Amino acid sequence: MSAVIQSIDQIVSINPATGEEIGRVGVTSPDDVAAAIERSRDIFHRWKTTSFSERRRLVMKARDVILAEKEEIAHLISSESGKPFGEAISMEIAPVLDLMQWIAKNAEKMLRPRRVNIGLYAMMGRSSKIVYHPLGVVGIIPAWNFPFSIPLGEAVMALMAGNTAVIKPSELTPLVGLKIGEIFEKAGFPENAVQIVLGAGETGAALVEAAPDKIMFTGSVATGRKIAAAAARNLTSCVLELGGKDPMIVFDDANLELAAGAAVWGAFCNAGQSCSSVERLYVQQNVAETLTKLIVSKTSELVQGSGDREDVSIGPMSSERQIKIVEDHVNDFRENGATVLTGGKRNADAVVRNEAGARTLFFEPTVITGATNDMRAMQEETFGPTLPITTFKTEEEAIALANDSEFGLTASVWTRDLAKGKRVAEQIEAGSVCINEVLYTHGIGQTPWGGFKNSGQGHTHGREGLMELVQPQHIHTNHLSILPDAWWMPYTPTAVETFRGFATKFASGSLIKTARLMPQLWKRISELRKKKS
Ligand code: NDP
Repeated sequence: MSAVIQSIDQIVSINPATGEEIGRVGVTSPDDVAAAIERSRDIFHRWKTTSFSERRRLVMKARDVILAEKEEIAHLISSESGKPFGEAISMEIAPVLDLMQWIAKNAEKMLRPRRVNIGLYAMMGRSSKIVYHPLGVVGIIPAWNFPFSIPLGEAVMALMAGNTAVIKPSELTPLVGLKIGEIFEKAGFPENAVQIVLGAGETGAALVEAAPDKIMFTGSVATGRKIAAAAARNLTSCVLELGGKDPMIVFDDANLELAAGAAVWGAFCNAGQSCSSVERLYVQQNVAETLTKLIVSKTSELVQGSGDREDVSIGPMSSERQIKIVEDHVNDFRENGATVLTGGKRNADAVVRNEAGARTLFFEPTVITGATNDMRAMQEETFGPTLPITTFKTEEEAIALANDSEFGLTASVWTRDLAKGKRVAEQIEAGSVCINEVLYTHGIGQTPWGGFKNSGQGHTHGREGLMELVQPQHIHTNHLSILPDAWWMPYTPTAVETFRGFATKFASGSLIKTARLMPQLWKRISELRKKKS
């Protein structure tokens, strides 16, 4: 059974669309967080010895549990986070199911001990291999915006690598967090292999303080900095998946109809609360008017409302704090001369009126033109349904505008000329760059996910993400251990001459040059053997 530790105060989970209470959970005390880490460490010593086939079996069991309960899980995600029910299936459940089957089938192959080509050292009868050890307890601190797929995917990767996990879900989505614990429990994972601790930022801080062996954090740059500083005190290494201000570049040869559809989805899905949302659109000047008209027209077709309705494309924002940031940014655009073409305010029509009172967390999908990079709202992460549009004339200008940001999470380039697309993509400072595609690459679990610049540090997903969860150990063997090494003590003039040869001949990597070192090497080894007695 996966333990759930709760005590002291309570968190009330609220549906952001309706304001209704969904449930309440107890907050885990710092002492109980530390105790959870200890229990996790105890079970780690057993879990790390399980075979890959057993780990695979349990992960595939957990997949079966999710599949059997996918409707219920999607409704829970939708009601706690506000995202449309369909989006909970397409952007949380489907991608994590794919990640689970992939990592279950491939972790063993990726973590198999591997021989390393050590070049000319092999000539001296040496060999090296790398074996991978699990780290221990992985502390997972996710954001509320993808409350299911991100922590669940990270826990599954940690488990497949032989680690155990303690998850601290966001205080806005504690019930989804508990559901994750329940899934591992139902799948038959050993007790305490995955534990859920509950609470707000303080509980996350207690988790960091309790010194897990790795921290996987997803959230804002500000919290990421705090966590990195706190983790440094225990030398705990962190993967930090942080914010974004992701650019979309549309060239005049792009399929504008598709680019407009992608911009609308990229900017407004999850009400713009995705780390890889399109937050800046740069369009080549001569097609700006056409593209903007298409975007406004597609935006006007979107239905906003409670996420449990299947015809709704945009739900509410997650919290009053988040909607205030969006209002602030829209005001910043207006005050600095940009034009709001559609949206720009809370959506009174979408408000759900009930006993819990009117909810005003719906912000209309907002399209803005005349934005420029010197506006504050073009530099800070908005994390809401806004799509500011800027024009450019040349390829160089588009690249410079896209890179003019402290962030570098994802980007997209739209053009029919794939050579140009690749050329531009490789010059964008971002962890993932799509050509004629937008936003969804976090869903490709086989590929590394991580940000450049202030968008983060380290990776989740892919081989690179798996490598974050293990300790590579180098095993080096001397197969000719009948002779002393030439570099051992005592040093002599013969030794120093041999060392010169190492620098000039051996370290050249050339077999021919190294062969010329052999007489000197042998002289030195003979010298050492004579000194033996
Ligand atoms: P926050 O940084 O506010 O919170 C993230 C998590 O950290 C939450 O669980 C939070 O708890 C917890 N937390 C808060 N303070 C502390 C602390 N001092 N020590 C430890 N944990 C703490 O981010 P948001 O929840 O607002 O998430 C939005 C941000 O996440 C955006 O910037 C977005 O871009 C980014 N993000 C990045 C992704 C990526 O892959 N790069 C993916 C998804 C989101 P609580 O919520 O209970 O306060």
